[in-house]
Amino acid sequence: MIKNIAVIRGDGIGPEITAQAIRVLDRIAELYGHTFNYTEVDMGGCAIDKYGDPLPESELEKCLASDSVLLGAVGGEKWNNVEGDKRPEKGLLRLRAGMGVYSNNRPAKIWKQLSEASPLKKEIVDKGIDFIIVRELIGGIYFGEHKTEGNTAIDVLRYSEAEIERIGRIGFETARKRNKKLCSVEKSNVLDSSRLWKKVMHRLAEEYSDVELSDMLVDNCAMQIVKNPSQFDVIVTENMFGDILSDEASMITGSIGMIPSSSLGATDCGLYEPIHGSAPDIAGKDIANPVGTILSAAMMLRFSFNMPKEADAIEAAVSAYLDAGYRTADIMSEGMTQIGCRQCGDIIVSCLK
Ligand code: NAD
Repeated sequence: MIKNIAVIRGDGIGPEITAQAIRVLDRIAELYGHTFNYTEVDMGGCAIDKYGDPLPESELEKCLASDSVLLGAVGGEKWNNVEGDKRPEKGLLRLRAGMGVYSNNRPAKIWKQLSEASPLKKEIVDKGIDFIIVRELIGGIYFGEHKTEGNTAIDVLRYSEAEIERIGRIGFETARKRNKKLCSVEKSNVLDSSRLWKKVMHRLAEEYSDVELSDMLVDNCAMQIVKNPSQFDVIVTENMFGDILSDEASMITGSIGMIPSSSLGATDCGLYEPIHGSAPDIAGKDIANPVGTILSAAMMLRFSFNMPKEADAIEAAVSAYLDAGYRTADIMSEGMTQIGCRQCGDIIVSCLK
């Protein structure tokens, strides 16, 4: 198969980690007889420096013309004082909206080799952590009107039934392929948008009678994720709640550097990125963990290119790499061998079968 991949290396550690994911993809292409063509796309701080815009239309067009997009990370202190609409993160929001990727899927899974890296008590971790957060990505308060009038600031939170229904369906479909348990997270005791959310989820539940639906208030969910994470299979929630809960969920699995994500809309063209940011504090030092990006590339093969065997091979190579006792600095523990970003790529490539 021939696939065209738009690559956004971005800022900070972005170029280092995407380079390793591309080496893994190239090895998969060799082993399985595919061709992956890469188109470089500028987004974020590097695009601000070059064009004065975090995502010029021409760069977005390259993404829309591709079969999928692989992203490292964007942002950094250098651009912190840039005005609102020109900030690096605006490029990312525009990319998500432009691609129409309304569903963000983040697994929270603990690798057995890293169970000691979790900040949770051993008895909680031993019960197993393996759930997915399905987050609505292009609606809600991040995409509502933002304005400041004198000393009052206003951000608008708005959801339509149609927006809730399409993400709700992804939640039910995801649960259907797993353990058939869906937890809908909202704040229906306070927010109208959450009451609508809950109503739509329960209407959908009638269509998905094989899936067990439960409701949870977001504040309770934040507690339950650390108290009893094994209760969850799939969580579906709106944009801002999903943003916060998925960062919390990532921490209980040990390292933010290990977790991939996929964002999909109505087509197979998806956006794949690790969940962390550009980590300016460790940029350029060859110490970043590239596994989140490598696993994002695996998700691309699985969800956008229908290459499940190839995706399995990448995940197995990551597991073999951990079994061999190598660790980047962020997940280093006693008795293991510390390696850098590039060497991590070398070992995972060598573990690919
Ligand atoms: P961050 O995720 O970049 O870093 C948080 C901490 O985790 C840092 O100590 C960092 O060194 C560490 N870390 C992150 N990724 C790592 C990896 N792969 N390996 C090892 N350690 C890793 O979050 P932040 O510091 O809050 O943000 C830094 C910049 O990234 C900001 O400009 C922010 O706006 C941006 N950001 C971008 C994205 C994105 O591109 N999707 C997401 C979040 C934040």
